[in-house]
Amino acid sequence: MKHTIKPRLSLTDFTEGILKGDRIVLGQAITLVESKRKEDQDQASRLLENVLTHTGKSLRIGLTGVPGVGKSTFIEAFGKHITGKGLKLAVLTIDPSSPVTGGSILGDKTRMDELSKDPMAFIRPTAASHALGGVAHKTREAMLLCEAAGFEVILVETVGVGQSEIAVKNMVDFFLLLVLTGAGDELQGIKKGIIEIADALVVTKADGDNVTKSLETQAMYQEALHLFAAPPSGWQTRVLTSSAFTGEGIGEVYNTIMEYRQAATVNGFFAANRRQQNVSWFREYFSQLLNADIEHHAAVRTLRKTLEAGVTNLTLSSHAAAAELLEAYHQAIRGIRS
Ligand code: GDP
Repeated sequence: MKHTIKPRLSLTDFTEGILKGDRIVLGQAITLVESKRKEDQDQASRLLENVLTHTGKSLRIGLTGVPGVGKSTFIEAFGKHITGKGLKLAVLTIDPSSPVTGGSILGDKTRMDELSKDPMAFIRPTAASHALGGVAHKTREAMLLCEAAGFEVILVETVGVGQSEIAVKNMVDFFLLLVLTGAGDELQGIKKGIIEIADALVVTKADGDNVTKSLETQAMYQEALHLFAAPPSGWQTRVLTSSAFTGEGIGEVYNTIMEYRQAATVNGFFAANRRQQNVSWFREYFSQLLNADIEHHAAVRTLRKTLEAGVTNLTLSSHAAAAELLEAYHQAIRGIRS
């Protein structure tokens, strides 16, 4: 699917549009951030710099769960609850499993139908054409743009298959894992590590005949969580039940997050976590830039492949290979080698 060529906005247009909360400009700015063209990336970088002081004021929530658990239906109900409180909500979705042209499961137009019509909500799937790390970077930048545009709650959704969740955990304040009733986590395809990083588990579809089972599942997870060490936030992970159909438990999920925010603000974890996340993204960006720079030098790029082959067939130690690559890169940037 090719984007139609639109007249190009200037950096000032982008900056002013975002700060005014113009949703069309916001959408275009996210496209700019996602673009692989060098000039777009430069402009995106300056735009992010321009709006930086207007970011960071939202509540950032991550949400994951295996396909079919009820994420989009939950987001509809939960999202309406949030906008019903007069808060502006942005929903950013990441679906690394589908190619960008193939019609993503998350990008499906019928998802979150109600919410997409809500003037207080903004829904945006991240183009999945980037490598996984890249998707997370773009989503984080999209999140910052949404914050600058005045969105007060940002919900970042991923398909809970265990790839991008850690990256998302590292950009949000609170991480929600949706689970189904009944089956244990292995049967549900939930990776162990994901349960450990969740701040709350929500057993979905707790309605009709499923209510009793949902309470049993809640108890089972609550029991299992006792085995994990207390997280650095000091927060005890909760297990809740909800039904997006009846609305039961939706408000409780929201209240739990508010309670967390309050507790984490008082004990200082909220701000400390954000600072730590910023530093970790800085390190990420830097290693990404460094890797991209290495790729620009043809001889170094070739050497890297040769060294990788040597490491693969055990003729070379990883350490020696890394040292040799670094030396070749140093020479390349001094102009000794191309
Ligand atoms: P996703 O793949 O995680 O986004 O899941 P969906 O939101 O598309 O939901 C998967 C299926 O579960 C759909 O058929 C929904 O109608 C159903 N579903 C979602 N939420 C509920 C709920 O609260 N109660 C019931 N009974 N079914 C639900």
